[in-house]
Amino acid sequence: MSAINLTINELAVEVTPGTTILQAARQLDIDIPTFCYDPELAPNGACRICVVEVENARTLIASCVTPVAPGMVIHTESERVINARKVILSLMVANHPLVCITCEKTGECRLQDYCYRYGVTDSKYSGEVKELSLDDTNTFFVRDMNKCILCGICVGKCQEVVGAGAIDFTRRGFISNVGPAFEDSIEDSTCVFCGLCIDNCPVGALTPKYSLGQGRPWQVKQVRAICPYCGIGCNINLQVKDDQVIGVKPVKESPVNRGHLCVRGKFGWDYLKSSDRLTAPLVKSDGVFVEVSWEEAFGLIVDQIEEVKLRCGDDALFGLCSPKASNEEAYLFQKLIRSLGSNNVDSFTRHCHAPAVNALMEAFGSASMTNSIEELAETGAILVVGANLAESHPVLNYRVREAVRRSGARLIVAHSETIDLVDIAHHYLPLRMGSAVALVNSLANFIIEEGLHDRAFIDKRTEGFEIFRKEVSGYTIKYAAEVTGLAEDELRAAARAYAVAERAAIVSAVDTDRHADSANLVLALANLALLTGNLGREAAGLYLPYGENNLQGIADMGALPGVLTGYQSIKEKNVREKFARAWGVSINVKPGFTVTDIFKHGKKSGIKAMYILGENPVTCSGEHLETAAFLTDLDLLVVQDIYMTETASLADIVLPAAAFAEQEGTYTNTERRVQLSRKAVEPPGEAFPGWAILAELAGWLGFDWNYDGPQDIFAEIASLTHQYAGIDYERLNEQGLQWPCPKGDHPGTKFLHNGRFSRGLGRFSVVDYEPQAADNLSICCSKGHFNCQCLSENLSRHSVINTLRNNNV
Ligand code: SF4
Repeated sequence: MSAINLTINELAVEVTPGTTILQAARQLDIDIPTFCYDPELAPNGACRICVVEVENARTLIASCVTPVAPGMVIHTESERVINARKVILSLMVANHPLVCITCEKTGECRLQDYCYRYGVTDSKYSGEVKELSLDDTNTFFVRDMNKCILCGICVGKCQEVVGAGAIDFTRRGFISNVGPAFEDSIEDSTCVFCGLCIDNCPVGALTPKYSLGQGRPWQVKQVRAICPYCGIGCNINLQVKDDQVIGVKPVKESPVNRGHLCVRGKFGWDYLKSSDRLTAPLVKSDGVFVEVSWEEAFGLIVDQIEEVKLRCGDDALFGLCSPKASNEEAYLFQKLIRSLGSNNVDSFTRHCHAPAVNALMEAFGSASMTNSIEELAETGAILVVGANLAESHPVLNYRVREAVRRSGARLIVAHSETIDLVDIAHHYLPLRMGSAVALVNSLANFIIEEGLHDRAFIDKRTEGFEIFRKEVSGYTIKYAAEVTGLAEDELRAAARAYAVAERAAIVSAVDTDRHADSANLVLALANLALLTGNLGREAAGLYLPYGENNLQGIADMGALPGVLTGYQSIKEKNVREKFARAWGVSINVKPGFTVTDIFKHGKKSGIKAMYILGENPVTCSGEHLETAAFLTDLDLLVVQDIYMTETASLADIVLPAAAFAEQEGTYTNTERRVQLSRKAVEPPGEAFPGWAILAELAGWLGFDWNYDGPQDIFAEIASLTHQYAGIDYERLNEQGLQWPCPKGDHPGTKFLHNGRFSRGLGRFSVVDYEPQAADNLSICCSKGHFNCQCLSENLSRHSVINTLRNNNV
């Protein structure tokens, strides 16, 4: 359809058909006031403040809901329009407490701004006013519904974006209100406390409790950082006043989260101010920790490491890295361990993510999620298998909802529980727990039988198809129905919905519906994507979001026993020589132990000294008592952390580290986006940024490291790592860059395997379904571990909130 030409305030503009007057005005940077319009919600025309005058129209027109027409001549600030807006504002003010001098929203309130703009000082429509009591029954925010102007933004965000449906309009007429059904408390509603209602309320009706009385908007500094919880890597603006974080707001411009957060990102930062933070180096003496200077702590570590190396060899040292470490910390950590002569460096992500990572490597040659988060909203069909995104990766869950709501994507949900997405799914497959491999194989077989597979893609881009076809032919729909407990017709319909979409995505998770054999499920899902040609293209692919904020990054940084940065194998002579030249040390050819080896074999592993960076194996290893006994028996245990964790309490030496908001650094999210997190506040006491501790210790150990800051460390990483070679701090700016980014002018890579898989051809694998024993099906925690006591993302949303509360997080 051809473009539409019109005039707004005597300026000509050309727009596409379907554009509203408000959107057309915004193209000309003309500011039409609005309370109820939000680009990601269906327009509702509720507030009417956006009325404009259209020549030859009888009445004023709400610009947010009216599409443009050819030749329209529009005036957005005519006398008639201004008078109408004054009346609307006057009516709002008549029933709105004018308590601006104490209202927390002062300075950011749109009602205040528009009244100022149009000179509305009070109301001539005096009469009855609402007198509702404050609702502060929940932990996170206060609701003062006397200030609510009924714009409906909070209702739209809650229902359309989040899907929680906790609030709606209640009652009618003068006593209209917004709240939970039957006027229950928010606490007892389906609210997930994501804070979207708060962040989008145009007035002061919703206020986070942490902000009350903390400072006016103009007194608060905004510092851009990255959420330290899951692998999505949402961008946040830390609200800083007097060297304290007093709040968090989402960044609207970020392509990762586009103004969205979940409860963890929005409210889970109180720990920064906790009085339990470590503030000085500690050394255990006669079973009791005593504070020492940094010099004393470093001196002791050096003496004991040298003694262990002399007595037991280089391989008696092991480094355990947290997936929450920044790229710079993880890089220096593995550099330190390797400079000491050992490749014994690993992380607990091996327990949960390694099977999926290995499966992706086998199928595609790259262990990363194939496509970008923002592409998900553009896809034609989404198959969600075994993932409960509302609990594990809520912001990705919002994207799936958006794809269904706005792009009309067909949604197929296969999960043993009635998860959040079920209410909008076109096909819900409530399969028996642990039967997902049989389900996926049967979908693949049916797609082949129906001729819905992409023969051209298979011929050109893959290998192993004929063997796969033969092996998978036993997975008939009838067999799958028996194994999964699903109806045959449901299975056929789901297979067709996925296969016929022009672009289709698969979303799963490392816990894969409590399926202990997650590697097989990932391989089966990779087969399905290869079969239908849904790889190497925009808005198609395989999404396996990581559970921790820098799980991708620490693997990229070589915090693994067999590879250096960018997955360069320790076995390759030229790789070892490259790093040896850059670091001025020789690199051990022998791959290190995995963390699984170490904790499985305990004392027999030969490990005598361990350096643990921000990890808590006593609670996360699964075998709590054995782990504690092993750690206690070590000749040297150094723990670098922000708290006296269960593991730190067993250490010989504890080093106090800065938290994410107290240092600068980069983190690589689950879509390979390298993002810069800025320092907002000083660390407490004598705590230091992790990179600075490691660099200082390296000096004490005799290594010649000279870094002025994390920027220098990153430059070294880029110089040694093909995927990061074109990235530097200046280029990261606001959006970050997705690797591979091999050159300084490379824009980064939105999706992988374009034209060629990392391993050359995509590989079909034969994956057999094996019934899972009941004890193999276990809850997976936020760290992805089985059978541990970490905060579980698979618990109900209220359990998560309660856990946050109980831990003062
Ligand atoms: Fe943080 Fe993940 Fe929640 Fe985003 S979705 S706010 S990254 S925990």
